[in-house]
Amino acid sequence: MNNEPFLSIVPNGSPVAAHERARLLENPGFGRVFTDHMVTIRWTPEKGWHAGQVAARAPFQIDPANAVLHYAQEIFEGMKAYRTQDGTITLFRPQENARRFAQSAERMAMPPLPEDLFLQAVEALVRIDSDWIPEGDGSLYLRPFMFASETFLGVRPASEYIFCVIACPVGPYFKGGKKPIKVWVSDAYTRAAPGGTGTAKCGGNYAASLIAQAEATRQGCDQVVFLDATERRWIEELGGMNIFFVMDDGSMITPPLGTILPGITRASIITLAAAEGISVIETPYSFDQWRTDATSGRLRETFACGTAAVIAGIGEVRYSNGSFVIGSGEDGPLTVRLREQLVGIQRGIVPDKFEWLHPIT
Ligand SMILES: *Cc1c(COP(=O)(O)O)cnc(C)c1O
Repeated sequence: MNNEPFLSIVPNGSPVAAHERARLLENPGFGRVFTDHMVTIRWTPEKGWHAGQVAARAPFQIDPANAVLHYAQEIFEGMKAYRTQDGTITLFRPQENARRFAQSAERMAMPPLPEDLFLQAVEALVRIDSDWIPEGDGSLYLRPFMFASETFLGVRPASEYIFCVIACPVGPYFKGGKKPIKVWVSDAYTRAAPGGTGTAKCGGNYAASLIAQAEATRQGCDQVVFLDATERRWIEELGGMNIFFVMDDGSMITPPLGTILPGITRASIITLAAAEGISVIETPYSFDQWRTDATSGRLRETFACGTAAVIAGIGEVRYSNGSFVIGSGEDGPLTVRLREQLVGIQRGIVPDKFEWLHPIT
């Protein structure tokens, strides 16, 4: 691909009125308010990626025999555009999302979207819908995704795909702001098995996790924690977030890559911690050890991390035979400090020494 703009821009002729947009931005919540535009790019074997456009956000017309409705060939990404203190609009490590999207595509037997095209698409949407970025604590959540769009019921990789990016203004992820979360450790369900799709960001992983998330909600918890599928012993991650444990000697433990989703927030926290001289050990950590260490005081803090919530402290753990509290039940000092650093970098308040910000001009 050369530097020719690949996307044709067709501005929405009837965007949401400014006063209505202002009203929606006051309390956008998460995932219900959308911007005026979307990006679409199509793929066929003959034309490759083609028909790229930025146009009015609108429904797709889908044939009942569309492959994605039957065999779930679908992947997605989640990322945020922020307004920094000096008014610059910036993305956080978007090249990492582009790379992971291509890897997810490969796992799901879909054609990878060139990484520069992914970036172009995301930037174009942020630019045209920049009025939708909330002031203050909010941000513009971007949802690039791709799905099989061929009308065919045969079981094989589809021969047509649509890549799309939509955006929604968002406030804080968890209701009640920065209170520590309660988690439910599922012994009935697992999320990912060796050789499965745990490392791909695909809709199917989420479909499989919803029943466990519903169980967590019934148990009065905010999120579910999954154990490994082989031994039902090792902590893997939450439904949509990775997990870190802070020990009393100041070191941190996080589960190794393999069947978990390789989070960009996870990777950023490992880098930030290393720069502070905190050792992060990527090693399996069992549920039994977690409970023992929380009770003995060897474990001081536990937090979950991901783009949507950034860093969320875990205050209480519930499981089928009981529950335990982590530390004082409040966010621990390292949880707070790492969150302030990461959010600070994203907001342009803390120096961006790892060059993670990607300003959009
Ligand atoms: C997206 C996701 C994460 C977090 O990844 P980030 O890149 O940090 O947003 C963690 N676990 C799962 C299952 C996910 O889908």
